[in-house]
Amino acid sequence: MNIDPILSAIIDTADAANTAPDDYWSPEDGLKYCGKCHTPKEAYFAEKHRFNGIDRHPTDCKCAAEEKERREAEMREFNRINHINLLRSEAFSDIPAAAWRFDNAPVMTKQLTKAKEYAEKWDDFSREGIGLLLFGNVGTGKSYAAGCIANALIDRMISVLYVDMTDVVNRMQGNFGADRDSYLKRITRPDLLILDDLGAERNTSYGKERVFDIVNRRLLSRKPMIITTNIALSVMQKATDLDDRRIYDRVLEVCVPVLFDGENFRKGNAAENLKKATRILNKENGGN
Ligand SMILES: [Zn+2]
Repeated sequence: MNIDPILSAIIDTADAANTAPDDYWSPEDGLKYCGKCHTPKEAYFAEKHRFNGIDRHPTDCKCAAEEKERREAEMREFNRINHINLLRSEAFSDIPAAAWRFDNAPVMTKQLTKAKEYAEKWDDFSREGIGLLLFGNVGTGKSYAAGCIANALIDRMISVLYVDMTDVVNRMQGNFGADRDSYLKRITRPDLLILDDLGAERNTSYGKERVFDIVNRRLLSRKPMIITTNIALSVMQKATDLDDRRIYDRVLEVCVPVLFDGENFRKGNAAENLKKATRILNKENGGN
């Protein structure tokens, strides 16, 4: 079988797709040039690959190569955004945390600054399996900080699961055997696991057993977890109850404690908003 007609047909087809009315042939090298960017639309085969008069093949001129790159970049960006949206929908289930960002935090507290640092140095923490224990009174912004970390990482295409400890324990209660095992696997899969509000779950030996399962399984995966809790660090460190003891020991083994203190974060927001509103009103009154 003679391959020439087939090869020649392929080249003709590629050539037709690579042709525009303002193309021209250069008298210098005999190649076809693009009328827009004045770079070649053809290239010669190496001497040894030329046969039966076929000595050249179509190639991208500069503007065609740029257009191709632009389209590919557009496609990559489209895929990136789709991937991020998917990660976000998998990370949060009906939790307002999906909208929390460092950039739109009402007040940048020193705790939020630490949380931001954690997100920025994620690669190092992740490699070491180090997470955070965000502890302090109700309303000091612990969950908010955890949510901001989650979103900052998701924007970098890192997978996160943000779950409420009570929900997790309840769900484990309804699942047995293989189901429970597959749920535990789900918890070990994401790069970062956030367990919100440790200590709010049922304070029974069953509840503690499940919390231990989760924390222990996650620890064995060597991937970081962030835990928020209202329980004071000193209480965790001095716990005498054996069930508590083994949970806290593991948490403190891999989570760096960060104290959330000071004024109530939400109250602080309200006070800040009130001040801002007062300033605006006074300005309006004084200005006009
Ligand atoms: Zn061109």
